[in-house]
Amino acid sequence: MKTIDQIAERYVKLSLKIGQHSEHYVDAYYGPQHWRPQAETTALPQLKNEALMLLANARQFGTFSCGEKHHRMTFLRAHIKASVTYINQLQGNYLDFNSECKALYDVQPPKFDESHFDEVLATLDELVPGTGDLNQRLDTYRQEFKVSKDKLDTVFGAAINEARARTLAFIDIPEDENFNVELVNNQVWSAYNWYKGNSYSLIQLNTDHPIFIDRVIDLAAHEGYPGHHVFNALIEKHLVNDKGWMEYAVYNLFSPLSLLAEGSANYGIEVAFPWHERMEFERETLFPLAGIPSHKAELYYQIQLVLHQLSYVDNMVAQRYLDGEIDKTQAVVLLMKYALSTEQRSHQRLRFIEQNRAYVITYNYGQDLVKEFLSSKIDNKNPAELWRGFSELLSRPRTGSMMQAA
Ligand SMILES: [Zn+2]
Repeated sequence: MKTIDQIAERYVKLSLKIGQHSEHYVDAYYGPQHWRPQAETTALPQLKNEALMLLANARQFGTFSCGEKHHRMTFLRAHIKASVTYINQLQGNYLDFNSECKALYDVQPPKFDESHFDEVLATLDELVPGTGDLNQRLDTYRQEFKVSKDKLDTVFGAAINEARARTLAFIDIPEDENFNVELVNNQVWSAYNWYKGNSYSLIQLNTDHPIFIDRVIDLAAHEGYPGHHVFNALIEKHLVNDKGWMEYAVYNLFSPLSLLAEGSANYGIEVAFPWHERMEFERETLFPLAGIPSHKAELYYQIQLVLHQLSYVDNMVAQRYLDGEIDKTQAVVLLMKYALSTEQRSHQRLRFIEQNRAYVITYNYGQDLVKEFLSSKIDNKNPAELWRGFSELLSRPRTGSMMQAA
């Protein structure tokens, strides 16, 4: 008889072997060093056999009507299935976009097309000052909301201190938790949290493109508090250290856990900074530190709220591009028209899509799903209750279909 712990150990070792084939796969690992593969890279056909065997064993394992074992096995099965899918991808066998969403992230996101986004563009057309092409106009309008490179450290520092204080007032994470911030270049992402274990994160900000003032709180909360840094620290403490559930010692990027990681990191922004409190902090602290006139905050954020409704454009473009319905040029045209990003940014986004594929859904649909899940469970207008529900979800992660079934 195999135990859940044995299945978990095999899953971790399998993940690390997959990681030998793809540097982006294992995002974080803080389990035993001797579990890392000692031998050379395992050939993909053999790795796939191992993964299929593990999936079969996990499926035979028996069902539990409820409780921790059920939760653990449901989570593990979805993750092993995602590993099989990813090995298939490494062998050059790709699913269509929607099937990939299900196989890797355990959800089927809603689909929106141009007619949906056209309405949002019409609203923006009214709001953004000036006349003429909306993309150009927005780009011009945005210029004075750039945070200059020499002020970035100070402005981001103030935001992350505030996000940290707001989070630690409600969430208990190990006292020695800490992080460092580093400015980097030449990446497909705008920021990244590298969780190193022992409650320590390295947060990198990419300065290839200007960072606008609205991104400062977003990034501080998303990468730091209560986002990735806190999520990883809670998992390490509650599941790996306290319970010895080793499947949580590895975090595979292309797996259902990412839907919750990105979704909760995005939803965490409004948990830590409810709209009116955020606006006050922007006007009174961040805008002055960045040297941007505070009275301009209101219209700027009104526009940001509407722009947020364009977040699903990524999914539309990724689906069409990856399914071969449109080419690179058409993808960039769509991103410029509907995501309203500059040409340069659109190229960067397309490189992100090429590298990460259906992962784009974890940000927008992940956020909506986490929000829906929590509002079905708790009164999310009550801050203490919202923080409690939020930290419980982070301490006991669910996959997409586990959130939908709850
Ligand atoms: Zn993220």
